[in-house]
Amino acid sequence: MEFNEPAQMEPDRKRKCPYGTCDGSGHILVHTEEGLFARKCKCYEEQIISNKLDFACIPEEFQNLAIKDFDVDLYRLEESKQKASRAVNIATRYVKKFDAMQELGRGLYFYSQTAGSGKTRLAISIGNFLVKYRRQQVRFITTVDLLGKIRDSWNDKCESSEEALVEEFATVPVLILDDIGVEGNKDWINNIFYRIINRRLTSNKVTLITSNIPMNELNFDYRLLSRLEDMVMQVFMPEESVRRTNAKSKNEKMLKELMED
Ligand SMILES: [Zn+2]
Repeated sequence: MEFNEPAQMEPDRKRKCPYGTCDGSGHILVHTEEGLFARKCKCYEEQIISNKLDFACIPEEFQNLAIKDFDVDLYRLEESKQKASRAVNIATRYVKKFDAMQELGRGLYFYSQTAGSGKTRLAISIGNFLVKYRRQQVRFITTVDLLGKIRDSWNDKCESSEEALVEEFATVPVLILDDIGVEGNKDWINNIFYRIINRRLTSNKVTLITSNIPMNELNFDYRLLSRLEDMVMQVFMPEESVRRTNAKSKNEKMLKELMED
């Protein structure tokens, strides 16, 4: 890389090179007879991943989730373990064949009626993999937050316009839309989702969705539903809450500790 873009070489003062070999910019300047060159420091790739992780807005508790760590034994019921194994298998194959999936613009729709069944965890695990190993630009958002942002944009004081937000979520290469279907059926909500989903569909962008409602029962217009069906494949998650099981075992542990002398 030639040293011709001084602006980009400005070191980030907040950042330190973890190897101590560059000034934190990710580049090392090299003087040669032909002039000044910059080569990439060892920390460069890590910085890109870290920036991408920041961009993804994945909640902190989920940032290190990996598909391979998804523990199907956390479910008590045999049926749940089987459903979870199948879902994990699909997720594993999905990231393995991501190039083909991306070319087709096909994503996944994780569904279970039960909250806390691992839908969001599995969708985010896929997102984390795509950031870390496929250098993808991923963005996570709950539908409630997305619609909240849109509503805020109608306020004059807000910097971003509705159109800019739709553009942002319509064009990000990988979008994780968490908990779709809780927002109810209003014309403006249909309109926003339609604009985002339709543009993602026509430009083959990958979308991962989680929901407590089966795709064909979502309370959306037919037009929007048929776009969704073209875009994502439904994956059934267990009808069992791992969250509750975890909380229950935590309570049992706590009670045991309280009762001990
Ligand atoms: Zn460095």
